[in-house]
Amino acid sequence: MANNYDWARSFTVDFSLLNGLSKTAESSKRYLSKVANMFCDGEAAAEMLKGGDPLVYEFYELGVPENAGDIAFGTSITYPGKVGKEFYMTKGHFHTVLETAEVYFCLSGEGGMIFENPEGDVTFEEFRPGAAVYVPQRYAHRSVNTGSEPLVTFFAFRGDAGHDYGTIETKGYRKLVVAKDGGGYELMDNPKWVG
Ligand code: ZN
Repeated sequence: MANNYDWARSFTVDFSLLNGLSKTAESSKRYLSKVANMFCDGEAAAEMLKGGDPLVYEFYELGVPENAGDIAFGTSITYPGKVGKEFYMTKGHFHTVLETAEVYFCLSGEGGMIFENPEGDVTFEEFRPGAAVYVPQRYAHRSVNTGSEPLVTFFAFRGDAGHDYGTIETKGYRKLVVAKDGGGYELMDNPKWVG
């Protein structure tokens, strides 16, 4: 993406969300066909893809210079939906510089963020409008939409933190966030997790 922002002086970004109105930022879009294998129920994903290719999530990132003193920020939109029993979610990642934290602020929608560290500690924090969720150092993080509206969050982290998607792509998450019978969500062990 072209980096037209003046990171050395100041700039303002129009993040007008959900209506495709943003004039100064362009989102990266993740359609089901590109992320189907992160869901546990491959048959359900294949079935859904016969009828189209839904947008699972999109995010705005601005191409921050990879300096420790800069702050990367953007917005993430995870759409409502499920693959089988599993709610739509983002890929999730560790930071390449593992000892770097991040903050997410929920603007609208509901859901949560699931965390795990390399030692296997798993936590979950709920998103609701106005909630600020802290991603501690060393924890992989993934947004999950458990509601019926788009889940919109704003995030900020150290400019040189980097993204490690590969570890999650290879191993998966230890826990899945799935619909509970009778409503709501629950965490369950991921049968496909590669230890
Ligand atoms: Zn992150």
